[in-house]
Amino acid sequence: MSGRDPRPATSVPAVAASPVSDDELRELAGKQAALGEVRGAPAPDPVNEPMIRHWLAAMGDANPAYLDKGLAPPAMAQVWTMQAPRPGARDRSPVDDLLAALDAGGYTGVVATNCEQTYHRYARLGERLTPATRFTDLAGPKRTALGVGYFATWNVTWYGDGDEPVAEMLFRVLKFRPREGTREDRPPYPLQPAVNQDTAFFWEGAKSGELRIQTCADCGRLRHPPGALCPRCRSSRLTYTVASGLGTLYSYVVHHHPPVPGRETPFVVGVVELPEGVRIVGNVVDCPPGQVEIGMALRVTYRPMDDRLVLPMWAPEEP
Ligand SMILES: [Zn+2]
Repeated sequence: MSGRDPRPATSVPAVAASPVSDDELRELAGKQAALGEVRGAPAPDPVNEPMIRHWLAAMGDANPAYLDKGLAPPAMAQVWTMQAPRPGARDRSPVDDLLAALDAGGYTGVVATNCEQTYHRYARLGERLTPATRFTDLAGPKRTALGVGYFATWNVTWYGDGDEPVAEMLFRVLKFRPREGTREDRPPYPLQPAVNQDTAFFWEGAKSGELRIQTCADCGRLRHPPGALCPRCRSSRLTYTVASGLGTLYSYVVHHHPPVPGRETPFVVGVVELPEGVRIVGNVVDCPPGQVEIGMALRVTYRPMDDRLVLPMWAPEEP
């Protein structure tokens, strides 16, 4: 999924004095849906080569066809009109009022659950896209693993020159009431990894303080993330190697926004290169984000997130 929440939940202070009732939420949802498609501000920049070049580099897409033909990769649709998270400077859409009402109702948690994109044609160099948002559905309240919440669904269509639709996206988030918990009775960490038979060894390793890297039992190739077949020899006979736990920071981002359930922002997400020859994604911890540097030496550290989940994270290696 390349889409990110185009309308991150505006963080309004919880209005405890005037809680929003379920009826009021349903009424507001009906009103917002009745607005139909609401045009947003046109993209600040036209479709341009530098942004396409950066995107292709970031995605590792070496296909020369886009720049040769002057076309944008379709999955970039949202890139052109993504708004900076500056308070008060946002272009309002029919979704914002509803998300704010959900916040006021105590449904302050947010997690994206669906993103479906449809591409009608390529956006061309020089073209300026305009988004239009249509709020479509509010479902709930429903009891979920994260807490009681509402699923809010909306569609964004990007129009190009000639008012033609270029791409559209259905986006759905779960807005939930975070469960209260004390240290002794910690709720489950809201972002549980999908554990399956291909990945269980990795998570069991983390619990026992081992960084396990999937290894082909036939040709010996290491790889991460794990999968069902060796990409080199197609063998399905798989084992693992326990890594040394050392690494160097290959790349990273500092996550400021949007809020992530169970986490305090900002936090650092790094791509760590292991001496064993694979790269692994993990949080860089015990280091202020401003002091994180590409190439820094790291050592794995195991952090319990709840009673069941241990995440391998990365801390600066003492020289
Ligand atoms: Zn192999």
